[in-house]
Amino acid sequence: MIQKISEIEQIIRTHDEFLITSHENPDGDAVGSMASMGYLLKAMGKKFSIYNASRIPDKFQWVKMPCPVDNQYFPGSHSWIIALDCGDLKRTGEKLAAEAIEPIINIDHHHGNPGFGQINWVSTHYSSAGEMVARLADRLDIRINGHLAEGIYLAMVSDTGFFSFGNTSPEVLELAAKLIRNGINPGLINAKILNQWSVERLHLHGLAMQQAIFYLNGRIGLIWVTREMLERTGASSEDCEGLVNTLRNVKSVEVAISLREEDAKRVKFSLRSTGRINVQRMAAEFDGGGHKNASGGIIYADMKNARTMIKEVVSRHLQA
Ligand code: 5GP
Ligand code: MN
Repeated sequence: MIQKISEIEQIIRTHDEFLITSHENPDGDAVGSMASMGYLLKAMGKKFSIYNASRIPDKFQWVKMPCPVDNQYFPGSHSWIIALDCGDLKRTGEKLAAEAIEPIINIDHHHGNPGFGQINWVSTHYSSAGEMVARLADRLDIRINGHLAEGIYLAMVSDTGFFSFGNTSPEVLELAAKLIRNGINPGLINAKILNQWSVERLHLHGLAMQQAIFYLNGRIGLIWVTREMLERTGASSEDCEGLVNTLRNVKSVEVAISLREEDAKRVKFSLRSTGRINVQRMAAEFDGGGHKNASGGIIYADMKNARTMIKEVVSRHLQA
């Protein structure tokens, strides 16, 4: 790993014109790691752009980005692409995955990342891609404060559930302590990250939770959101985030499943577990991915069939 990070260090020192990107429908780690990588390059005096296939969700509009985020990718306009938090090249979106000409630096912490870059720094040891950007900043002697620190903090709390999941390592807490020493105010920034709910979102969560169903003596919890439920509550598909974690709060639940209808033939799924139960392997049966305790993907079916399919896969794994 030391070798990979020093290769990246060398490329950054000796090149210019980087394109920073992350996965579509960006989460806190994606937004935070893109922002902090931008501030890192800015501190190095480098030219860079940021591209994401999706627009930055409303709940992250408070995040100060180092430059505007483009939604269009023009192949060949940069020297290197830096892909952050992408378990797979497809996660950057169809356009870049199909048409990228530039060499890619792949910085990621997902299990099963195939190493799609020319340089691959991939390790599940790290809590978040943001944590990896912080390690790189240390190597490059860049002080982690201000907006750079905010991006890293957002990334780390998003992927560790505010330091509650199993990936909360001593290094994560030491880095958090350093960010606070360097000026981050956890009370203020946590409020910005957490208190983003709309009334529509509250109503959607209420509706979905009422309908939650349980299998295998409550060991599996399943919650789902259809297009019709979004219309009825006025919520957006982004508002489904977090439902799966609430479902995992049920005492009997070992695997929490949430399903979101994208269209008549596509359902997005999320899986969550605790401890030794590996939901990444369950997601892999649908070509999805992620981590041992948090994974996701797409099921190409209607909602009714998707429910049956995922329930059967999860039951089989739990009973094996
Ligand atoms: P979420 O359920 O919050 O969308 O995602 C949980 C984890 O699963 C994240 O680490 C994310 O990277 C991964 N994940 C979600 N959707 C997909 C997908 O379609 N493909 C792959 N490979 N991983 C996914
Ligand atoms: Mn991540």
